[in-house]
Amino acid sequence: MSGHEAPILELTELNKCYAAPGHGSVQALCNVNLQLYPGECLGIVGESGSGKSTLARCITHLEKVTSGQMFYRGKDITQLKGEPLRQLYKQVQMVFQEPSSIFNPRTSIGKFVREPLLNYKMMRRSEAETAVLRLLERVGLPAEAADKYPHELSGGEQQRAVIARAIGVQPDIILFDEATSALDAPIQQQMLDLLVQLRRETGVSCMFISHDLAVVQKVSDRVAVMNKGEIVEVLESAKLTTAARHPYTRSLMASVLSVRKIRNEIRGTKEVI
Ligand code: ADP
Ligand code: MG
Repeated sequence: MSGHEAPILELTELNKCYAAPGHGSVQALCNVNLQLYPGECLGIVGESGSGKSTLARCITHLEKVTSGQMFYRGKDITQLKGEPLRQLYKQVQMVFQEPSSIFNPRTSIGKFVREPLLNYKMMRRSEAETAVLRLLERVGLPAEAADKYPHELSGGEQQRAVIARAIGVQPDIILFDEATSALDAPIQQQMLDLLVQLRRETGVSCMFISHDLAVVQKVSDRVAVMNKGEIVEVLESAKLTTAARHPYTRSLMASVLSVRKIRNEIRGTKEVI
């Protein structure tokens, strides 16, 4: 996958500094070089404060980069404005940890999913209702969800609605930033299954960001490890255990293994890790 095709998204020497009043500045991204290839899921893992969200926010232009370049399908998008930026917003969708932050409590789920379809003139209003029902079905929500309001859905159902809205505009890329981190383990697993299914159906490229290496590894083809704003290593997911060289990656892996060990001890199993 990463061998011959041109990347759909490429970041070169990306830097982001935040002014920190009284402390000079914080370098949240430090010379980040990354490629996302068509159809792949690239995991980004690192502990809290390592710069993962900043990376996602720079790609989606919610933050301005300090220096460096970003290319989408070979085109420099670093300084995009106006209509081209609006089109980029359509192609690059983002799913955050807290779905409640993007809902309007007075907007029904149906309208929430329908809005971008109409805003981007994907279809006529008369066609949108059926499209919404189809999208809800694809993310595993019943048709009745269309008439509900955000507070009537569980956290997992809300996140499904956010994904329905994101895939409705047929984006090239979806960035998931800690999208499953607030969910209980079984619901989290259901969301990961949904993600795998959607990738298979649509071929959408994904960036899956999480502090949890075990979760990232489950859904990603490759994993980029971030530490203090730097990408310290990019590894094939399947070879993570044997190929990790960087001490920071190994320490992340060790913490995953110890959590599993403790869980197994609690369950009284002797499952080999
Ligand atoms: P992560 O998502 O990996 O937890 P973030 O990208 O949120 O990390 O943060 C990276 C670093 O940048 C942290 O040191 C954080 O305090 C700092 N930071 C993030 N956003 C801002 C901001 N708006 N202003 C100042 N510093 C920020
Ligand atoms: Mg974050």
